[in-house]
Amino acid sequence: EQRYIWLSLTTNRCEFCHSKDSSAQIYWVFRVRCCTRCLVEKTISQQKLLKEGKISKTIMSCLPYIHPCGYRLYWHADILKAQQEFDNLAPKEIASWVLKKHQIAYKITHDAKIREHAYNHQQYQNGVNIGHQIDHDNCTRRAGMMLKELGQELLCDTTNLQKSSTYREWEKVFDPHWEEIMWEKWRVAMKKECIKTNNLKKGLNIKDKKYLIFGRINVMSSQQGSLGRKSFATAPSSSRNTMRDRGSTSRGGSGRKPVRYRA
Ligand SMILES: [Zn+2]
Repeated sequence: EQRYIWLSLTTNRCEFCHSKDSSAQIYWVFRVRCCTRCLVEKTISQQKLLKEGKISKTIMSCLPYIHPCGYRLYWHADILKAQQEFDNLAPKEIASWVLKKHQIAYKITHDAKIREHAYNHQQYQNGVNIGHQIDHDNCTRRAGMMLKELGQELLCDTTNLQKSSTYREWEKVFDPHWEEIMWEKWRVAMKKECIKTNNLKKGLNIKDKKYLIFGRINVMSSQQGSLGRKSFATAPSSSRNTMRDRGSTSRGGSGRKPVRYRA
């Protein structure tokens, strides 16, 4: 409880890097106030945990998480601490430990929801377009985490990629309702950009190439074509519908009206 009071009273600075970054906000689920960059640094995605296979699903199920755009993120230190506790349990203690952790995670998640709701309501009353803000923030969080993972995969620094024109172009069409295929396309586009800017002697693998078939150019030009200069920032709902349609068109065979691409 003390932690909650402290979080409410402190300034808007990120508690880790102390920057007065405008993205710094309270993540009640993790009981921290931090900027997006530090959040990305200090969390780990479920996808990565599953890929590495070092942490059991039981432990993941015991911890609270956030899920920007459907990408589940855990506080990395929480995961490590829980794993350590779990490893030291006697077999007969496991069931009660798991039960207790579930209860705590439930309580934290429930509590966070109430606090976030109250905060959002307050923002809304202050005239902030809170729905749009949340959508945009969530896209930035997911994109940030995927870029970090790309850097780990390619063993290079990806922090500057956010300044690249490819990133900026895609950022205009970021959509919290993107299907996974769109995030994959975005990832492959960023991977290509990363390989190019860092002069890496690596190429795309077979899985990556799959997402190039319906590549960025089509997506971007048709976006420009159908919505003109309207970006995600000004037209979240219309771009959402367009991206949805395109998502199913890209996978072929939904029987919907085909999207016309400009050459
Ligand atoms: Zn920070």
